[in-house]
Amino acid sequence: MNKIIVIGGGPAGMLAAVSASKENTEVILLEKNDRLGKKLFITGKGRCNITNSADKDVIMKNIMSNPKFMFSALDAFDNHDICRLLEEHGCKVKEERGGRIFPVSDHSSDVIKALSKMLDEKKVKVRLNSEVKSIDANEDGFEVAVKGGKKLDCDAVILTTGGISYPATGSTGDGFGFAGKLGHSLKECVPSLVPLETKQLWCRDLQGLSLKNTGLKMYSGGKLIYEDFGEMLFTHFGISGPMVLSASSYYHKRKSDDCKVLLDLKPALSDDELDDRLLREIAENHEKHFINMLPSLLPAKMVPVIASLSGIEEHKKCCDIKKEERRELVRILKNLEIDITGTRGYDEAIITKGGISVKEVSPKTMMSKLIPGLFIAGEVLDLDALTGGFNLQIAWSTGFLAGKSCCEYLDEIKGE
Ligand SMILES: Cc1cc2nc3c(=O)[nH]c(=O)nc-3n(C[C@H](O)[C@H](O)[C@H](O)COP(=O)(O)OP(=O)(O)OC[C@H]3O[C@@H](n4cnc5c(N)ncnc54)[C@H](O)[C@@H]3O)c2cc1C
Repeated sequence: MNKIIVIGGGPAGMLAAVSASKENTEVILLEKNDRLGKKLFITGKGRCNITNSADKDVIMKNIMSNPKFMFSALDAFDNHDICRLLEEHGCKVKEERGGRIFPVSDHSSDVIKALSKMLDEKKVKVRLNSEVKSIDANEDGFEVAVKGGKKLDCDAVILTTGGISYPATGSTGDGFGFAGKLGHSLKECVPSLVPLETKQLWCRDLQGLSLKNTGLKMYSGGKLIYEDFGEMLFTHFGISGPMVLSASSYYHKRKSDDCKVLLDLKPALSDDELDDRLLREIAENHEKHFINMLPSLLPAKMVPVIASLSGIEEHKKCCDIKKEERRELVRILKNLEIDITGTRGYDEAIITKGGISVKEVSPKTMMSKLIPGLFIAGEVLDLDALTGGFNLQIAWSTGFLAGKSCCEYLDEIKGE
């Protein structure tokens, strides 16, 4: 009887355990928490954006680090496969804006229930409250030490301990240490899909203000590195919201420390059209103070900030605003400049960028190229993607492939 130990009961580990299970194989899933999928439970604000309906090439474009590594894993198990598998186990799915797939119930718990059902069906031995402390490779396979002193022998190990983001969910980077001790190299880790900190203190004055239909351009050393349109939020430390989280992924690719975001508060209007609009506002508010004209153009919270940045005296009569002042106002509304000083930490990051180097893992099997019998899958690897369900797809695809190849590997070495 083959014996496989899967370490980490997140999406990658659960699927690896399911796909590794078959008649002649005992699969043990070790999870340090008192329940499976603690992080999965909070995904998609509790709704779980399971995957994305996009074609394979679009999925690949949304993978930020090492997309090519994902080629075989996506071939082995793709977005349609995870939807089908979940539906077969009682979790119906639906598609929303941007191809995002969610459970029909809008409850991530239904995804976890479906996965638990699969684990039961496959007779996977789930061991909760089992924190792995070390993995040692020996001639016969592996010895896995669990907190409390218990040591378990097995023929193969599948490592799916996740990254370091939201460490309260159990993902505390243990897998990096285990892989490092077994000789694997690590690509430096950074928090990603994470809010950004800014130099400008006025961002803090706008705390809580959410902007929709806003243009965002990110520049590093004067070079455009990211462009988007959508929703963002001002916070007590800087900026956040969907568009900013995606921008953070590109922030890590910057070549210079000088990083700026330019917000276009009036993306539907060209500079000249906005100037015309200001001329009309000025004509209609001829005798009013400048500060009293702005609310027709901006959310109330932004009025004092934009007034101050424009350099136009708040109580200047609209009719006295000079052409250059108006032009400067147009420039600010179309290019509101924010200097980025850094990102927030892992506590607020959706994912960890970096991890176990994929150069030392076979993309066709997920087996370590250094330690035969060690398979690695999910966020613990140097793989990450943009928001939209792509990160979970990485976990599903690599987890499934690791489990399947692990069985095949054991059958092969044992001559079955
Ligand atoms: C707030 C938030 C929202 C997100 N929303 C989405 C979304 O909607 N869609 C999407 O695609 N992605 C989303 N993500 C990202 C996604 O959750 C992760 O990419 C995914 O969970 C990674 O899966 P994994 O199985 O590799 O690792 P994890 O989910 O991190 O699971 C690893 C597991 O290993 C366990 N473990 C760790 N060390 C040990 C040890 N020593 N012994 C035993 N067990 C151990 C942990 O307790 C954990 O249960 C979100 C992330 C966050 C933080």
